[in-house]
Amino acid sequence: MKTKYSLFIGGQPVAGARDAFPVIDPATGERFADCPAASPEQVDQAVAAAAEAFKSWQYSSDEERKAILHRIADAIEANADELAQIVTREQGKPLALAQMEVGGAIAWTRYTAELEIPVKVIEDSEQRLAELHHKPLGVVGSITPWNWPLMIAVWHIMPALRTGNTVVVKPSSLTPFNTLRLVELINEQVPAGVINIVTGEGGIGRAMTGHPHIRKIVFTGSTPTGQDIMRNAADNLKRLTLELGGNDAGIVLPDADLDAVAMGIFQTAFLNMGQTCAALKRLYVHESQYEALCNRLVEIAKQQNVGPGVKEGVTFGPVQNKAQFDLVSELVEDARAQGANILCGGAALPGSGYFYPPTIVADITDGTRLVDEEQFGPVLPVIRYSDIEDVIARANNNPNGLGGSVWGTDIDQARRVAARLECGTTWINNHAEVLPHCPFGGCKMSGFGVEFGEEGLLEYTQSQLLSIKRA
Ligand code: NDP
Repeated sequence: MKTKYSLFIGGQPVAGARDAFPVIDPATGERFADCPAASPEQVDQAVAAAAEAFKSWQYSSDEERKAILHRIADAIEANADELAQIVTREQGKPLALAQMEVGGAIAWTRYTAELEIPVKVIEDSEQRLAELHHKPLGVVGSITPWNWPLMIAVWHIMPALRTGNTVVVKPSSLTPFNTLRLVELINEQVPAGVINIVTGEGGIGRAMTGHPHIRKIVFTGSTPTGQDIMRNAADNLKRLTLELGGNDAGIVLPDADLDAVAMGIFQTAFLNMGQTCAALKRLYVHESQYEALCNRLVEIAKQQNVGPGVKEGVTFGPVQNKAQFDLVSELVEDARAQGANILCGGAALPGSGYFYPPTIVADITDGTRLVDEEQFGPVLPVIRYSDIEDVIARANNNPNGLGGSVWGTDIDQARRVAARLECGTTWINNHAEVLPHCPFGGCKMSGFGVEFGEEGLLEYTQSQLLSIKRA
């Protein structure tokens, strides 16, 4: 794995104009490489290069862009091992999960390549022909987080390119290398300036969101940053897709078959060590099965092999960064102080890495920080309920609205409960599953706009009505 990376501006590798910053390996808590840092002037240069490239890229044909996206997928595939190694090293996740992330990046790229940009005939009469077309927006700015850094970059970049936009990407400063490598690979397939990358903390993201020549920002990350982006984007009325935090509730109905659902609940709560926007983050279990389900979740938690992601046999890696690690520890300690019962885990592993074992917390309820706030880490509060109406109200009594789930055997009943959850996706007997053909996005403080499928694709376009007078 190489440790020297460049920015890419106008098709050229460029050194950062500012002092490089260290990137930490979460398995050791120590710096393992330095990342180049862009200056705000380099953001301007990247935007200018993207704007220049847009002049011709917007008129490239559908067939050309489809073929290019498939070639990008080929390039990711050919470099899959290296990309997975980078993801594990800087993000922390076990190598098998990083390989899955790279596989997802390839699948999403190929699926997006094949999406059609529709032309809708609104009226075809003697008076007129009215058609709704979709045109690219211009320069799109992509700002990505540290949890699924490669896959989320692909989620942002591919629909932007497919629809004829050009892109400036800014990855999280905690996990920049996979995206620097990805953009290097994409650059080999597209004309100069179609994709550009700048890196650097806080100020660089703000330089993009306030930039007068960026037409849209697609952002995945925290709600406070999403709010700042929205304020900053107001000056030139940028379009926004904001995929923000969640505090997804899962409701286990009295008729749930625990043999069938326990593993799924564990996996979707602890996916990526719980650092997944749409992970199951609050589990409400009917009192009739409360203890039995807690016991099963503890059994599964204890089977996890916690350790560095690069080590063979490890199923559970570290938390990605110190701030998140400290937040998880703090929320668990607060729950303990409030009288909750820590059934397993509940203490960081000794050493300098950010290892926190999967933690199940019982005898806890709403009004505790661990339930009310997004933990975004390897701890799941399990909350007892007795009344369906009450649990629906409790699930909805949260500012976030990303996803939610209902677990049970009577699917009609589960559907009725799911329909009443205030969130962008509801799953039955599942959670956290995102698919390239299913639009995904949040409501309330989890953001707005969707990604994926035709609806997601069209968020990168401006509609234009063509009206031809006939009589
Ligand atoms: P942030 O929202 O702060 O960062 C996400 C991205 O936004 C990074 O690329 C960051 O750059 C950039 N950024 C930060 N501030 C600004 C700004 N003012 N304007 C434009 N861009 C900005 O997330 P954190 O990494 O701090 O994580 C904090 C919390 O966010 C987590 O605890 C979790 O709750 C939530 N989160 C949600 C995710 C999701 O998938 N929805 C993913 C990750 C986190 P830089 O790194 O250089 O500061």
